[in-house]
Amino acid sequence: MRFEISKVLDAIEGRVCTDPALARAVVDLAEVIRWQNLDGGRPASLLRLGMVIDALAQQLGEDSVPVYAIVHRALLSDADLTSNERMVVRRWADDGLVEVLDHPGDRVLEVADLLGLPVLSRGRFDGLSGRYPWLGQAGRVLAPVPGAGGPVFIAHVGGGQSPASGSRSPVGAKLLARQWRCPEPGCALFGGGGGGGAFADLARVDRAPAGQPPPTLRNGVPTCPRHGVRLGDAGPRPRTELLAVRIGGLVRRRFVLTESQPVLVGRAPDSSGGIVLGQWLNDEARRWISRSHVRFELRAGRGELIVTDTSTNGSGVRPGGSMAESDRIALAPQQSRALGEGDIVELYPGVQVGRADELPSDAKFSPTSVMAEAPTMAMRLPRP
Ligand SMILES: [Zn+2]
Repeated sequence: MRFEISKVLDAIEGRVCTDPALARAVVDLAEVIRWQNLDGGRPASLLRLGMVIDALAQQLGEDSVPVYAIVHRALLSDADLTSNERMVVRRWADDGLVEVLDHPGDRVLEVADLLGLPVLSRGRFDGLSGRYPWLGQAGRVLAPVPGAGGPVFIAHVGGGQSPASGSRSPVGAKLLARQWRCPEPGCALFGGGGGGGAFADLARVDRAPAGQPPPTLRNGVPTCPRHGVRLGDAGPRPRTELLAVRIGGLVRRRFVLTESQPVLVGRAPDSSGGIVLGQWLNDEARRWISRSHVRFELRAGRGELIVTDTSTNGSGVRPGGSMAESDRIALAPQQSRALGEGDIVELYPGVQVGRADELPSDAKFSPTSVMAEAPTMAMRLPRP
């Protein structure tokens, strides 16, 4: 049983991140774990985060939708969690997958404001709509409540039932145009301040620039939300491109491409950071698609998005997203091509990669639950 719960927690771990390009909603983890009526279980349970993430995926019609979790420091030693759950949250904190704060205050709203994300909360945030006018917009604050077969969303503020994103606030756009450095050694959110030695710093360099969370503002000064110290400006943030994988009409996951790191996509790429498609492919697609089938690169300077076929069988490009067979441009093994607006790369019929904003889900959603491994005891849902 414990082993199975660990597997569920591992699955949930793949859905928490502080990357502004990937997160799809903001939550206060201390609040989520205590929504006891979601499953009628223990006073606090980390599995409720999985239930909420599943509900979000269902609403957005995509698999793998990560949430940005703000974690009150007290949660790391909360006796209502199992020791295993506490260990998992500490690991997330150490890896910078969640933001751990001594005084979260209204950081949930600040992150939602800076990134333009919906908030999943049962709070009403009375008195804060002057500061955050979007609180009144439909779908920006939704409360997960028990429903038939899992949580559903209702609005306590603003209205709407589907989580809605807005645009980044002007301040958010400005903060996210730069990279930031925390002087505190080993800061998991804003790269170490040199405390870990040259190699530790090198290891962090890759993680830091593209996926850094938004700083908090204290009196207008960009500040590390964890350490409360002023952040140093480390230059412009590298350009990124957000890509999506769509298989059988469903967006299965998104990934971030940076100028410094090409990304391989295929059945099971060897390289770290490669996008593994194997689990979503039928037998024929699995036979056709190579372990590393295509490589994506973002060219420094002009920011051109280049695809290179690295497969045995070749692939194709659908210009402007056209699904007409006569429009399809074949991409032979080792051939490269710059992707224009709306272009979609097709590894095999129905297995596609493109810019995330140009590649929506277009099939009825059948969710791949992060809770699939959960034992029934932990998943005892209230009867509708
Ligand atoms: Zn810090």
